[in-house]
Amino acid sequence: MPIAHVALALPLYQLFDYQIPTALIGQVTIGGRVTVPFGNRHSIGIVVAIDEQTEFQPAKLKTVVSVIDQTSLFSDTLWQLLIWATDYYHYPLGEVLSHALPALLRQGRPAELPEKKQWQLTEIGATFALKQLSRAPQQQKLLALFQQQQPAEIIQSQDFSANIYQQLKQKQLIVQVVLPQTIHRWQPSQACNPSPLTLNTEQQQALTNILPTLNTFHIWLLDGVTGSGKTEIYLNALASVLSKGQQALMLVPEIGLTPQTIARFQSRFNAPIDILHSGLNDTERLQVYLRAKQGENAIVIGTRSALFTPFQSLGLIIIDEEHDSSYKQQEGWRYHARDLAIVRAQREQVPVILGSATPALESLHNAEIGKYQYVKLTQRAGGAHFARQEIIDIKGLPLNSGLSQPLIQKINAHLAQNKQVLLFLNRRGFAPLLVCHDCGWIAECPRCDKPFTYHEKQHKLICHHCDTPRNIPSQCPKCGSTHLQSVGVGTEQLEKQLRLRFPDIPVSRIDRDSTAKKGALEGYIEQINQGQAHILVGTQILAKGHHFPNVTLVGILDVDGALFSSDFRATEHFAQLYTQVSGRAGRGEQAGEVLLQTYHPQHPLLNLLLEQGYPAFAQQTLHERAATLLPPYSYQILIRAADKNNQHAPALLERVYQWLRSECDDPALWLLGPVTATQSKKAGLFRWQLLLQHPHRRFLQTITTQLIAQMIQWPETKNTRWTVDVDPIDF
Ligand code: ADP
Ligand code: ZN
Ligand code: ZN
Repeated sequence: MPIAHVALALPLYQLFDYQIPTALIGQVTIGGRVTVPFGNRHSIGIVVAIDEQTEFQPAKLKTVVSVIDQTSLFSDTLWQLLIWATDYYHYPLGEVLSHALPALLRQGRPAELPEKKQWQLTEIGATFALKQLSRAPQQQKLLALFQQQQPAEIIQSQDFSANIYQQLKQKQLIVQVVLPQTIHRWQPSQACNPSPLTLNTEQQQALTNILPTLNTFHIWLLDGVTGSGKTEIYLNALASVLSKGQQALMLVPEIGLTPQTIARFQSRFNAPIDILHSGLNDTERLQVYLRAKQGENAIVIGTRSALFTPFQSLGLIIIDEEHDSSYKQQEGWRYHARDLAIVRAQREQVPVILGSATPALESLHNAEIGKYQYVKLTQRAGGAHFARQEIIDIKGLPLNSGLSQPLIQKINAHLAQNKQVLLFLNRRGFAPLLVCHDCGWIAECPRCDKPFTYHEKQHKLICHHCDTPRNIPSQCPKCGSTHLQSVGVGTEQLEKQLRLRFPDIPVSRIDRDSTAKKGALEGYIEQINQGQAHILVGTQILAKGHHFPNVTLVGILDVDGALFSSDFRATEHFAQLYTQVSGRAGRGEQAGEVLLQTYHPQHPLLNLLLEQGYPAFAQQTLHERAATLLPPYSYQILIRAADKNNQHAPALLERVYQWLRSECDDPALWLLGPVTATQSKKAGLFRWQLLLQHPHRRFLQTITTQLIAQMIQWPETKNTRWTVDVDPIDF
């Protein structure tokens, strides 16, 4: 009796076995979906193996209910990649496989492009006298279009209501026909338009290195300062791949893809480019997935999960801003899209280009040890200059909503010359605290034990950790005082202050709140790009990808938090953010200026960054990491556990700690914890963690596999949510 071993999308480290009924033998396929009974309902699972073996009594097994796919949904390489990933990330296979599918496939939709239907004239309709419809002018108009043999798209674009079509149909004048499925391929020989730019020497050199390697697996790290023309290199590499008739995948950070970049890609290629952005609905996502699979699109651009797009003939993977932390999934299956993309490229035998102005320290290290090939662009393309940088020591200076007098003077000077100013403050909302002036009470989110952020526009308190909104109390719940005061500055307050101070200058605030509405960001950018004097206020959204040629002054309001964080990666992230933000100044012809407000002007990291730039910072930090054996000179796995009553989670991790200590006497295995997470409570759960670190990845992987095999048998896991985070990047 054949048995199907099925992966279900559940956080359980096991497969589920089902009998295959005779009628379905031959239809059940590895990599295909089946419907199976689970509990008292039906679930969709993916067949992982078919054989005659089961650990259970065969007679007691339930049977497969139906088969959704008779062929595998996954190519061999994609399947192998996901199997590898479930091992590497110690994450259940069912969840991994389901994550790699578009939502509609998870829900059981057929893996085919939906039928295309089209209205056509009937024989009666073709000769029907239009004047007979003179009492129904809309129907008359529509029928006239059909009789004039207008193309379907033109007729559709006229927006006749469905009702009008139905009425013509009832009169048997038109019918709806199903169009045969045709696969539209693009023409490789005509896929690319010539570049409007003449490459500079550095760009040319980079391409001379990269282009000949594009036929097989190579990893390129393209380290190029902001504005050095990396995108131009991508476009040339893509042109080479498309002209061979191959497809390409480009990953971009979560908020990094700008309308300008999209337009640049579209004008460069005469081949379909599909963009997986957050505005797409599930049907549109499925369509991009299927089009790629059938080879109908040439380029797919998308965020992290676009990595799992199947391609008919993949020729290149590009990862823009490879250092960006949004490539790491921060919940559930915590994979790193950059790292997985490299494994995928290796299995598909295609090249991968990692681009950044501020490469991750891991990537620089990999280039140093020869794992990646390295090209560098040091000049700004198109004649733009680097910005002048300066520190403002704000100790003892009066601040107006975060602005010091020297900064205000500079803003004035730049605006007076009709230039634009960008002010960076990585804190949205009006103020990070609401405090009772009489007793010191602080409004805190009870689910996270963290202060609420005061949002003036929405007139709400909002927890930035769990998004819970609250009404603003009129009185202090502790002492009854009505003197509640906001403390600290967020982007909303800064915007308000700037409007007061510069009433004639438009101010655009760009953060998650102001850009939540679809098209809002595009609207701001359009206005800014008209070029008049303008003040931009924003969070890190502003740091990414945008090209504002008229910004000549960048002011950074508050950096001190990042300088004194306990997370060893915080300084790396700060240096990247600082370099990216200051790269926004002087992108055009005019030289720019960067001003940084701090209470710690002597801070060695700040001075290193300002005086010698990111490369020097990266070198020094890598030396420090080597000396202290931190990644990339060691490997880490973080075991996280959370529970509602703050007992089971620490108990579970304590048992993990004891088990590791007793099973493993390797002194190089370094254990930190169990300790509470940096954010010790979130959305009502108390969070704990235990960090494992070892110089050898293989060792860490093996011990973790053994550990999990034990853990799933322990009663302590019952009342906790626990996960394993491989190569964690936030603590
Ligand atoms: P990056 O991706 O490194 O930030 P881009 O490729 O976006 O850089 O280039 C920055 C700006 O310089 C863009 O406006 C681009 O059109 C322009 N640019 C790029 N390469 C050249 C070149 N060879 N000559 C002139 N302008 C260029
Ligand atoms: Zn009070
Ligand atoms: Zn909260």
